[in-house]
Amino acid sequence: MVLTVYCSDIALMCLCFSPITNYASRLTAFMQITNFLSIDVEDYFQVSAFEKVSPPSSWDKRELCVERNTDKVLALLDEAGTKATFFVLGWVAERCPGLVRRIAERGHEVASHGYGHQRVTTQSRKEFREDVRRSKAILEELTGQEVIGYRAPSYSISRDTLWAFDELLEAGYRYDSSIFPIKHDFYGIPDWPRFGGYAVKSSQGDWLAAVDDEGMERALYELPITTLRMAGKSLPIAGGGYFRLFPYTFTRWGLERINRREKQPFVFYLHPWEFDPEQPRMSGAGAKSRFRHYLNLSRTEGRFKRLLQDFDFKPIGRNTVL
Ligand SMILES: [Zn+2]
Repeated sequence: MVLTVYCSDIALMCLCFSPITNYASRLTAFMQITNFLSIDVEDYFQVSAFEKVSPPSSWDKRELCVERNTDKVLALLDEAGTKATFFVLGWVAERCPGLVRRIAERGHEVASHGYGHQRVTTQSRKEFREDVRRSKAILEELTGQEVIGYRAPSYSISRDTLWAFDELLEAGYRYDSSIFPIKHDFYGIPDWPRFGGYAVKSSQGDWLAAVDDEGMERALYELPITTLRMAGKSLPIAGGGYFRLFPYTFTRWGLERINRREKQPFVFYLHPWEFDPEQPRMSGAGAKSRFRHYLNLSRTEGRFKRLLQDFDFKPIGRNTVL
């Protein structure tokens, strides 16, 4: 199925994409927009695509690569002089406390990716509450800084789990960056606004994208993963497997279009394991999961360096949400 999706996306891209010429001169038109860069700090065996062959009970027996891969990302960011938000998994923070401290000491934002990387849709409300509070406490203890941001494993806050917003607010989070406004087999709220804004509770108790100040005392800032509107549909463009799938010139063209035509910043995301072509292979995983996970891993680093040259980035952080 994913192959079908990717093929249709590529066909759409070929129809609509024209090569960029005079890129440097066009760049100046949108350079004033600063985008959001985020890194979801988890290891290769924790991704949802491998959840059936890699249950949490097996994690401690696997080779841990997240620390060296995240250090590689930190070095690339230092080289470019760019700061980012790192959504760190509590499970990783417990095993790599020095890494979490290094992220904070180098001026990046430490935010939460939850503790155990279980999709919200597979957790009870009580389990979710404990997971997000546990990770927040671990990260704050390590950094000495308040953690205000959260991103769900696999963007798994959906229409059915918007109670997660209540739990995040009550746990002390101020923003969420979990909604992918797209149709996908694992995640997505296709009709959620594509750009950042507050979510508030209606008088019926439903969470809605805010249109005015009503209910702002119960507001959570939502910064969705950015999509590209093209030919009447929303196309994932801003990171992960899509960054590895599409030629970089297409990604750059799409992201530039969001900055220039829509005058909006985009939210970009990657994972440390996407920088590691040599990572241990997971046995027993299905073809679709393997395709998504291993595609073009050797291209990530080079493309990421170009991305950091072509666009301005900042962490999400307090300045964005208050
Ligand atoms: Zn994740």
